[in-house]
Amino acid sequence: KRMISTELMEEDRRLENTLRPQMLVDYIGQTKVKENLKIYIEAAKQRKESLDHVLFFGPPGLGKTTLAGIIANEMGVNIKITSGPVIEKPGEMAAILNNLQEGDVLFVDEIHRLNRQVEELLYPAMEDFVIDIVIGKGATAKSIRLELPRFTLIGATTRAGMLTPPLRDRFGVVNRLDFYTVEELKQIILRSAQVIGVEIDQEGAIELARRSRGTPRLANRLLKRVRDFAQVKYDGRITKEVASFALNLLEVDKLGLDHIDREILLAMIEKFNGRPVGLEAIAATIGEDAGTIEEVYEPYLVQNGLILRTPRGRVASDLAYKHLGLDKLTEEK
Ligand code: ATP
Repeated sequence: KRMISTELMEEDRRLENTLRPQMLVDYIGQTKVKENLKIYIEAAKQRKESLDHVLFFGPPGLGKTTLAGIIANEMGVNIKITSGPVIEKPGEMAAILNNLQEGDVLFVDEIHRLNRQVEELLYPAMEDFVIDIVIGKGATAKSIRLELPRFTLIGATTRAGMLTPPLRDRFGVVNRLDFYTVEELKQIILRSAQVIGVEIDQEGAIELARRSRGTPRLANRLLKRVRDFAQVKYDGRITKEVASFALNLLEVDKLGLDHIDREILLAMIEKFNGRPVGLEAIAATIGEDAGTIEEVYEPYLVQNGLILRTPRGRVASDLAYKHLGLDKLTEEK
């Protein structure tokens, strides 16, 4: 597994739960999303109603689960957490829905991976707070309608485009989460350092923030790793020097790229001579799955202007050449 994978790793689990902000005021960044939610939550509370269904989309580790927890806390209700691939049968979803209390939040991570029958059960549940379940088999089978409490479904997905239109349309609030700025990540890191009790100075936090790919999950993971270096090799305090030393050893470079990111850029520049290239060709060259490149590696490279997506294919930008210390050969006419 990549050190800088933004997917949840086993080592993150315990740390993540202790570091999760509990209320909106403690949640750093995503200002627009926060402002919107604040209004919807306030309005729902004034009307003493449940909150409209909410969809969050965006790359992994940006705080979708955290926000779902915050919404439940702000509304003063319980949250039940599950995920698309875990629920295999409509009956399982029916049981979950039936056990909710009035106003509760049901958080479904990776909601685009629900199977069709389970998804279809959700339509009337979301819209009219009822489900129809079939009891018995064959000629004696009959359908009964079950009334549900008014709950809030919060769905999370890495790509909103993967949701079927009927499901997407049933969310009243749709929010996109973006990568965090270095300044926001710095604040997250300073807060996390305080919670886990490690000393870090401003420059140390900035260095970590720069290399965290705009992702709080990664910032927290790198903080934990760098803390170990600080403790064993230095006096325990994380400074810019300590952070650089540790992150260089972990092969996370100044922009947060690791060897696979660099391989992708190098393949584009050296194997394809900087010409526009398709995803499949890049994938075949470095021996990675095209879908993984598109979903896991590329978003951050595109966001930071290292890869440009043109109608003719992907191109490594001038910034990519500069970052890799390469000269750009201008094509002879
Ligand atoms: P995935 O969809 O991959 O499960 P996610 O988007 O749900 O990821 P979270 O699990 O909510 O991500 O967040 C990952 C970690 O980052 C958590 O430890 C959380 O505390 C921290 N985090 C996320 N957003 C923020 C934030 N705005 N401020 C402080 N910490 C944050």
